[in-house]
Amino acid sequence: MKRREFIGSALAAAAAAGLASCSLPGSEARKRTAAGAAGKMTLRFYPYELQLAHTFTVSSYSRTTTPDVQVEIDFDGYTGYGEASMPPYLGHSTESVRKFLSKVDLSRFESPFLLEDIMAYLDTLSDSDAPAKAAIDIALHDLCGKMLGAPLYRIWGYNPAKAGPTTFTIGIDTPEIVRQKTEECAGKYKILKVKVGLDSDEQMIRTIRSVTDLPLAVDANQGWKDRSKALDEIFWLQQQGVVLVEQPLPKERLDDTAWLTERGPLPIIADEAVQRLRDIPALKGAYSGINIKLMKCTGLLEARKMIAYARAEGMKVMVGCMTETSCACTAAAQLAPAADFCDIDGNLLITNDLFKGMTVRDGDMVLPDQPGLGLTKL
Ligand code: MG
Repeated sequence: MKRREFIGSALAAAAAAGLASCSLPGSEARKRTAAGAAGKMTLRFYPYELQLAHTFTVSSYSRTTTPDVQVEIDFDGYTGYGEASMPPYLGHSTESVRKFLSKVDLSRFESPFLLEDIMAYLDTLSDSDAPAKAAIDIALHDLCGKMLGAPLYRIWGYNPAKAGPTTFTIGIDTPEIVRQKTEECAGKYKILKVKVGLDSDEQMIRTIRSVTDLPLAVDANQGWKDRSKALDEIFWLQQQGVVLVEQPLPKERLDDTAWLTERGPLPIIADEAVQRLRDIPALKGAYSGINIKLMKCTGLLEARKMIAYARAEGMKVMVGCMTETSCACTAAAQLAPAADFCDIDGNLLITNDLFKGMTVRDGDMVLPDQPGLGLTKL
């Protein structure tokens, strides 16, 4: 394909994929595109174990590492970075991601701008494997942004000045550790997210309140079982300066969650109850909003559809993450200007990050102004 035809088809495909309001490629991109005919996309991946700064405990388990797979897609002299992170409770593993990625044949697509086609193809390979699909989606978006010479948020029309704050998460722990963690982060963030859902909830909140008056979000990770007790606790939490409650009850208990949402004073956000776009219709009326995570929803393409759907239903949008490097976190942060709440601190919870990308300044996320995700390899 001639260069002019290639650019034309790439831009047309970008328009179809929601990458429409892009600038023309920068001079560097033009030079590199002109340098060689468009070849085939090649996919590489390797396992990487994320080391957590602190043992992480939620209502159902504890861990000190998270399995992860790093993905790179090469095309026409550019490399797009992606990542699959697999917290154990979701049932994915390094092996399941490797197995899925080994089946993927990107050479059948002529360009990374064919995002809709490529993601539909990935869904034909399996009904599960969201983290592996997200890794490819993230790398493709990075690649498209680099080829267009613009950051993703700019291509989508989002204002980076509206990225806003991210919560910083404090896991369940002894009062001493919770106090220490809170002291470490109280001056750096504007809002904290507290893991609750065990008998220690009141102690957790009181310990944090002995250190800071910052607003709090709480995440029960399905840990509360009795809806009346949960409602009492939510009223108490509101008095303690809590502004939202994530996944209070087991995800199957939609009627009880609707009962809580109706009577409680705080927004109730679905996390475990929502994975992909297809899950949202059933949640209407039961939850005030949804927590979108790239590792659950297969990546940015579907995440943006979920935002649009949630908005159409009057639901709040939270963008979250798993424990991830700055690759996937910076991808999620591209969506921050379109969200009501962000919990994108996965890169801040590990000690062996591979990239510099989104950073946090005075509690607010700062998006890189480089093309694509805007990552720098460390
Ligand atoms: Mg959660």
